[in-house]
Amino acid sequence: MKQITIVGGGLVGSLLAIFLAKRGHKVSVFERRADPRRTDTYAGRSINLVVSHRGWTALRAAGVEDAVKAITVPVFARMMHDRDGQLNRVPYSIENRAIYSVSRGELNRILLSEAEKLPNVSLHFDHKCVDVDLDKASCIFQPDGGEAMTVSADVVFGSDGAFSAVRAKMMHGRFNYSQDYIEHDYKEVAFPPNADGTPKMDPQCLHIWPRRYFMMMGLANQDGGFTGTLFMPHNATKDSPGFDTVRTEAEVTAFFKEHFADAMPIVPDLVEQYLRNPQSSLVIVRCDPWTHKDKVALIGDAAHAIVPFYGEGMNAGYEDCKVLNDLLNEHGDDNWATVLDLYGKQRKPNGDAIADLSMRNFVEMRDLVADPQFILRKKIEGRLQAKHPDQWLPLYSQVKFTDTPYVDALREGQRHDRIMEKVLAMPGVEEKWESEEVERKAMELVKASF
Ligand SMILES: Cc1cc2nc3c(=O)[nH]c(=O)nc-3n(C[C@H](O)[C@H](O)[C@H](O)COP(=O)(O)OP(=O)(O)OC[C@H]3O[C@@H](n4cnc5c(N)ncnc54)[C@H](O)[C@@H]3O)c2cc1C
Repeated sequence: MKQITIVGGGLVGSLLAIFLAKRGHKVSVFERRADPRRTDTYAGRSINLVVSHRGWTALRAAGVEDAVKAITVPVFARMMHDRDGQLNRVPYSIENRAIYSVSRGELNRILLSEAEKLPNVSLHFDHKCVDVDLDKASCIFQPDGGEAMTVSADVVFGSDGAFSAVRAKMMHGRFNYSQDYIEHDYKEVAFPPNADGTPKMDPQCLHIWPRRYFMMMGLANQDGGFTGTLFMPHNATKDSPGFDTVRTEAEVTAFFKEHFADAMPIVPDLVEQYLRNPQSSLVIVRCDPWTHKDKVALIGDAAHAIVPFYGEGMNAGYEDCKVLNDLLNEHGDDNWATVLDLYGKQRKPNGDAIADLSMRNFVEMRDLVADPQFILRKKIEGRLQAKHPDQWLPLYSQVKFTDTPYVDALREGQRHDRIMEKVLAMPGVEEKWESEEVERKAMELVKASF
């Protein structure tokens, strides 16, 4: 049994506490913010997110799948809204598989409560980590309004998010680090349900308004409403408006009328919300190594903050927890030097790969989903998958519906790009995409590509 400190009781830290406590370790979680079960911690932040296959694999392994399933809404397809309000529904998979929308706050509250049920877990809110002694696995916490305290442990996990204090301490040594803000910021708006609580749009779809250089999406909540998120450049460019040029009531009204006219009647106070709600930035963090000897490890966004366009940040963090648990199963709970070393080496390339995949999906969501070539490609890929399921699994399915390591999925996606580029270049492919000729050509290219 080890004494373990977890810095950060967010989405990943709370699940990690459950995994480690169920192994018999004594786990203390220190969270900078107040207990979200008693306060509205999540006000103004992304209020829902998507749990997908990898997340479920980890939640199941931790024994909390059912508790989480109960608070989700299944989402089976993208629903594209064009400028004229025309809708186009594109399923996520040919087997009708779903991703699951969940309230961020509710998920965190459930996991904290599940952790707290375990006798060897203690939760400490309003405790901010201000320093870490990496060699000694001891942390200094500053409680709200109290005296700073030193907490010693055998192992420390930094699950303290994109601006991790644990990682900041690791940067004092031999440590590689990069932080990139993308040009787009985001802003959330709440889409209310009808007066009788029914949803105003199909809740089983992720609604997307792709506008080439910017986009809005809407994801269902359990109460019949949706969380809408507008992604737009921080500064306007010659091709796109930006948050800096859409500021006044008149500008915001004109902007939504021009680009998202069909959303306006659904959200009567759209303009007020836009003006009131915070504008947030999106950052990609890569670092290496993720561990310090047998004493400290980074996990979740602290190790790999990514942009949200694949909806995989938390799922990747949950997969980190599952992989760590598997390594402890394999090497035992007394062999932390080996376990942490293998954990870092296995997960780091996957963290980089999902960072790349997420940027790639941004281009797909904001731009390509409205592109006829892209829609044609999806149809051809769907047909290939249906006829040759052992030889063609689209990239999206590999990322969202399998445990295929992200690194392998990325490599496969690049191979698919090369093949589909040639298939889409076939003369008249728009008319004959369902023909045997197109299928034969694609399968020849598949065989030649190995
Ligand atoms: C708009 C948006 C949409 C997203 N959608 C999805 C999605 O659909 N699916 C998905 O999988 N992911 C999604 N993500 C990503 C997801 O939110 C993150 O990957 C996830 O929250 C990471 O969890 P975490 O616990 O590692 O970090 P966080 O959720 O950031 O939690 C870190 C915790 O550490 C605490 N903390 C920080 N510093 C300290 C300190 N010094 N001392 C003590 N405590 C500290 C914080 O208060 C916080 O509670 C989205 C992100 C954004 C921005």
